[in-house]
Amino acid sequence: MPIDIKKDSLQLALKKLKARESVMHQLEAIASLGSWEVDLKTMTSTWSDESYKIYGIKKGTPVGLNTFYSLLLPQYLEDAQKLLTKAIKGKELSRFNCQIKRPDGAIRDLLINGRVIEDAISLKLIGTTQDVTELSTIKKEAQELSELLEHSSNEIYIINSQTLEYLYVNKGACKALGYSKNELMKKTIKNINPYMTKYQINIIKKKLIHDNTVLNRTIHQRKDGTQYHVQSYIYKLSFQGKDAVVVFDTDISEIIALEDEHRKQRKLIEYQAYHDPLTNLPNRVLFQDRLQQAIAHSKRNDEKFALLFIDLDQFKKINDSLGHPIGDKVLIETANRFQQLVREEDTLSRLGGDEFTIILKNIKDEKNTATAAQKLINSMKKSIEIAHHQLHISASIGISIYPDDTDSQEDLIKFADTAMYKAKDEGRNNFQFYSIEMTKNAVKKVIMENNLRIAIEEQQFQVYYQPQYDAKKEKMVGMEALVRWNHPHVGMISPMEFIPIAEENGLIIAIDEIVMQEAMKQFSKWYKAGLYPGKLALNLSMKQLAHNHFMTYLKKTMKACNFDPLWLELEITEGQMMQNPEQSIKKLQKLSKLGIEIAIDDFGTGYSSLSYLKKLPLHKLKIDQSFIRDIPKDSDDVAITKAIIAIAKSLNLKLLAEGVETQEQKEFIVEHECNFIQGYFYSRPINSDDMEALLKKQNQ
Ligand code: C2E
Ligand code: MG
Ligand code: MG
Repeated sequence: MPIDIKKDSLQLALKKLKARESVMHQLEAIASLGSWEVDLKTMTSTWSDESYKIYGIKKGTPVGLNTFYSLLLPQYLEDAQKLLTKAIKGKELSRFNCQIKRPDGAIRDLLINGRVIEDAISLKLIGTTQDVTELSTIKKEAQELSELLEHSSNEIYIINSQTLEYLYVNKGACKALGYSKNELMKKTIKNINPYMTKYQINIIKKKLIHDNTVLNRTIHQRKDGTQYHVQSYIYKLSFQGKDAVVVFDTDISEIIALEDEHRKQRKLIEYQAYHDPLTNLPNRVLFQDRLQQAIAHSKRNDEKFALLFIDLDQFKKINDSLGHPIGDKVLIETANRFQQLVREEDTLSRLGGDEFTIILKNIKDEKNTATAAQKLINSMKKSIEIAHHQLHISASIGISIYPDDTDSQEDLIKFADTAMYKAKDEGRNNFQFYSIEMTKNAVKKVIMENNLRIAIEEQQFQVYYQPQYDAKKEKMVGMEALVRWNHPHVGMISPMEFIPIAEENGLIIAIDEIVMQEAMKQFSKWYKAGLYPGKLALNLSMKQLAHNHFMTYLKKTMKACNFDPLWLELEITEGQMMQNPEQSIKKLQKLSKLGIEIAIDDFGTGYSSLSYLKKLPLHKLKIDQSFIRDIPKDSDDVAITKAIIAIAKSLNLKLLAEGVETQEQKEFIVEHECNFIQGYFYSRPINSDDMEALLKKQNQ
């Protein structure tokens, strides 16, 4: 039995050994690791299964050191033999990297480790062979890749996502920026990208959460301070265990310059498409566009605009006789002159040839437009001097008004064109509205305005005086000064014709000042001569009263003329006074304090509120002549006149009736206790000589 036991335990030990061997084989296979041993006494070799596999030799084939040497690539043979000799002597084999060529021709990279073991019965060299071909390929590739990165002409950076410090910079980056690697590694992206803001960095970081790649443009600053544009491709990655990004930057300065150039060229082409090359003015295309805009804008804002169609008179003659280059210069000069007269919001265009158009936006009435047209015509009065030629050129202008004439774009142009031909027919060098009515009005107003200015300069105004009577006593108590315009060609022009226009354009201020000076001077003289002219009633425009300098001017004039404020009465029409009653109260109180009396002119034609009448520092109401005209026949006028008389009484105001022409009217008025009368019944307005004669007669 003991024998059996021994046999059993031996079998068990063998079984265990076999099992272990099988595990070893599997481990070797997993690690691509083959084991081997060389008996240095018999020089026989034993290879594990994995070793056969690594060397590409069929399992079980007898092998020895020579088998190994024969497979080794020749350049490794000498080193291998030296190492073996050294190993036997030193009893160890250092790591040996080599390459073999397997019988199937495949070249493999091997790593061999070994050591010598010696005991009583044997001297062995044992070791392992590892096939590291894959590993070295990866290593080689990695090395090649990093070389590639390093020598790439692109700038490549690896940046710590948290600290924004550089973890790696390549040669290309150093070269582009002018820093050494050491210097650059100490910088942060803030130093290199001076314009990059925190906000931009955050945007890139946010994008990188969702995308692996982000494209960005930035500006780099070199060590010498110069700058250039770069395009960056940014990738997320992990580098040396840190969250990082790799940035590939390409200098795109040239591309940017090219883009700029393209943009400029595009703009130029666009500009050329919409502008006339000769005058640089908008051309027909842009004009049509602006006209469309003007219609839309005016419709939205309920405004009017005017379209002026301008054609130079007899331009063709200049072109034909002096040649196109001179014609061109005339057009340029004309464009310049017109351009100086249009406001920024208006559009002056050249449609071609000698045709220009102007869109005058937001016009208030035909007078503004006519004034503008007249200015354009006047601007051509000065001759144009080109190459020793003195050229006299005029312009004819046609005007259509949106929306008065039409709201159609096409018709506006057609109508302005038609009006322009009308201007040519009228003898050129003038403007015409499409609507005949407007032309008449505008011309009248423009002519009137021009002439009024001349009248002020040339002192064409005279003061007439109309007496005011106390009807009960049949005595003259004062007079109203009334302006007369004695035009050198036309003769006397009624204030009814020019006062409303002068009110509109502000010339009334100058006119009233002339009348005031003249009348005060005259009054002073009469008082001095002992003629007792009573009160001087002056008509005053609210515009004048509202003027800041009016009080000073009034006092100065009174003083200069030796005129006593107690002689003065100022007439303001009811309509004007009630336009801004609060302002009137303030201004009139100041006058009243000087002892000047205030009368409401044309009373009954405006809309007075009784409460304001009470507050205003008034002395007199002048019943408008329109109510007097038909009394006592017209019962309405009788009723109104009676009511006005009642108001004056209750407010304790003096009352004067204007426009009394007949005995009947006078009697009715006096009967109803209105004692003051002004009208043709007593006298028409007369000049100062006639008035002086009247005063003298009365004082006899
Ligand atoms: P007003 O101030 O109401 O002047 C009275 C107007 O009635 C005067 O007209 C006068 O000639 C006219 N008139 C007087 N009595 C009669 C009459 O019995 N029958 C008729 N039919 N008319 C009569 P005039 O001189 O043509 O002045 C017209 C208006 O022009 C004046 O009306 C006044 O508002 C304004 N005006 C005249 N001179 C001046 C001035 O120097 N400055 C200002 N701001 N306005 C003035
Ligand atoms: Mg008056
Ligand atoms: Mg009046």
